[in-house]
Amino acid sequence: MKSRTIVMLGIFAYQSLVGLAQNTQYSTFEDYPVPAGSLQEMIYSTQETAFQLWAPTAQRVELKLYASAKGGKAVKTVAMKRADDGTWHATVQGDQDGKFYTFNVLHAGKWLGENPGINARSVGVGGKRGAILDLRTTDPEGWCCDKAPQRNDIVIYEMHHRDFSMAASSGMVNKGKFLALTEQGTTTPGGHATGIDHLRELGVTHVHILPSYDYFTVDEEHPEIPQYNWGYDPLNYNVPEGSYSSNAADPKARIREFKQMVQALHKAGIKLVLDVVYNHTMDIDNSNFQRTVPGYFFRQRPDGTWGDASGCGNETASERAVMRKYMVESVTYWMREYHVDGFRFDLMGIHDQETMRQIRDAARAINPDVLIYGEGWAASAPQLPEGTAAMKADMGHVEGVAAFSDELRDGLRGPFSDDHQTAFLGGVEGHEESVKFGIAGAIAHPQIDMQKVNYSKQAWAKQPHQMISYVSCHDDMCLTDRLRASVPGLAEATVSSATEQAGKGEADLIRLDLLAQTAVFTSQGIPFMQAGEEMLRDKKGVHNSYKSPDSINAIDWSRKDLHPEVFDYYRRLIRLRNEHPAFRLNDAELVCRHLSFLDAPSNVVAFRLADHAGGDAWEDIIVVLNAKDTPVSVTIPEGNYEQVAHDGRIDLNGMGEVSGGRVTVAPRSATILHR
Ligand code: CA
Repeated sequence: MKSRTIVMLGIFAYQSLVGLAQNTQYSTFEDYPVPAGSLQEMIYSTQETAFQLWAPTAQRVELKLYASAKGGKAVKTVAMKRADDGTWHATVQGDQDGKFYTFNVLHAGKWLGENPGINARSVGVGGKRGAILDLRTTDPEGWCCDKAPQRNDIVIYEMHHRDFSMAASSGMVNKGKFLALTEQGTTTPGGHATGIDHLRELGVTHVHILPSYDYFTVDEEHPEIPQYNWGYDPLNYNVPEGSYSSNAADPKARIREFKQMVQALHKAGIKLVLDVVYNHTMDIDNSNFQRTVPGYFFRQRPDGTWGDASGCGNETASERAVMRKYMVESVTYWMREYHVDGFRFDLMGIHDQETMRQIRDAARAINPDVLIYGEGWAASAPQLPEGTAAMKADMGHVEGVAAFSDELRDGLRGPFSDDHQTAFLGGVEGHEESVKFGIAGAIAHPQIDMQKVNYSKQAWAKQPHQMISYVSCHDDMCLTDRLRASVPGLAEATVSSATEQAGKGEADLIRLDLLAQTAVFTSQGIPFMQAGEEMLRDKKGVHNSYKSPDSINAIDWSRKDLHPEVFDYYRRLIRLRNEHPAFRLNDAELVCRHLSFLDAPSNVVAFRLADHAGGDAWEDIIVVLNAKDTPVSVTIPEGNYEQVAHDGRIDLNGMGEVSGGRVTVAPRSATILHR
């Protein structure tokens, strides 16, 4: 109790409350006062609950208390008082635990409408009212001792809660919920591990969950209606989504269960990455931002219309002091309160570089190992001065932050804009340099001809760990769907072929799938995979499945029974990377020193990691990626090698010797040798 009182004093005591403002008109957004303390809006104690709202342009602010999350009359209405720094304050005496609250701002003579504020940390069902509670009562047992595991490597596994557990074949009970990730001992119908046991078996180090803050679209009051959304429609940035909890009507449940999920992952040796979408809100007029400080949180074009670099009707203004502060506080709050280990920034190119640097620095002050990456692009140019946005090409200005490489992704499988076009994997020549650029981790490497790289004519990563290496993610077709849609001869390929022709297609589909991921996982960037690829997941050919039903999105776990050899390849590929530092040198200079590309025919990329790269036990490693549908022979340095990957299989203990100066690589597959 004592510590809580001290925190309150720290936030509120310096201010002198002056009642109504003399001046609520500012000529520019830069003139708006910036509070020195936290933007936290509700601080509970058993004696009183203190409220604060930053609303410098408000003429009046009303706080209303309610007995329920929706409907009913306010049990109390309090006129808040303004302080010099544009914050408004009220304190309600007595224990208010279990009540709900809203703010309403009078601005330019108009009440903007009740809302839970911009910074609610707990809300009622539907997210329209804040919930008063003591966060300490939401901590699961042992939470104080929860610690993230230490891992050598980073392998990111991107998943949506419903995709992961909805199918009957998942064996999980808490379908579509945070708690699914806490279940142990779950299996497929054929007895293979599912859920968190499966993740541990696979060897991934970071689970990246699609937006799991409170978002708008799914109706939390009706969990019995099947509803699906990725969640890129933010409502309350600092509260877990209600539909992923066992009971959205209990404001504590979603908070406690999110923590239980983190705790279970940490115990399994896995870290958690949260997908954050600060770049836009569901809409402007009904957003909590606009109902609190109109205009401030969104960018305008020179003609006064709203910017729309998100393609969703608006873009937020990270360069404005309080929005920047808000983002920094939000990220650090998820780290402190929920023990989140990393963040994936949606359309990071909408944010300015300085904000990303401040987020990185604040996050590292809490956890030096925090993982921060994002999409280094936007749907269209943001309303920011040229060269200040956190675009992929500008990653040199935000060191320590990583961006997705569309060069490698599309160099392998073809462009985002056309599902039917293929590239390296489909036997198309001319994509070798894009693949090599990805293998090197998007850094400048003397053997890569940047003029032949698909999207970037200059290397954009200062260090290889600034590049996220991938071939598929939620945002697009799954790898199997993409291969079927784009590679001639694979259209009929299934994962349980009955006919001979389909059987050949299936075999080739699997070969190309494994080849693609071998490129990703032997890249010096940070490898990233979409959940279910390790079981040949498909989405029935749907590209943008953001609101498609579970019948499209849910992972069919029985595929692990059908193709245990595919899962095994992924597992061994991850183990290869984890046990061999040569594949993750983490330093551009070391990559240039140890990584060299070997002469290879078109549609083949061959490289060597020489001289115990990164202190590797293996002196020399040779990787050949052959996308041709015929065998190829590649010249390698003379010597006796042990083969650890060949013809769609991996065995780290060795699969036979290769000696002399040439190696033959089977069609549509990778060969890995070492000596
Ligand atoms: Ca919600």
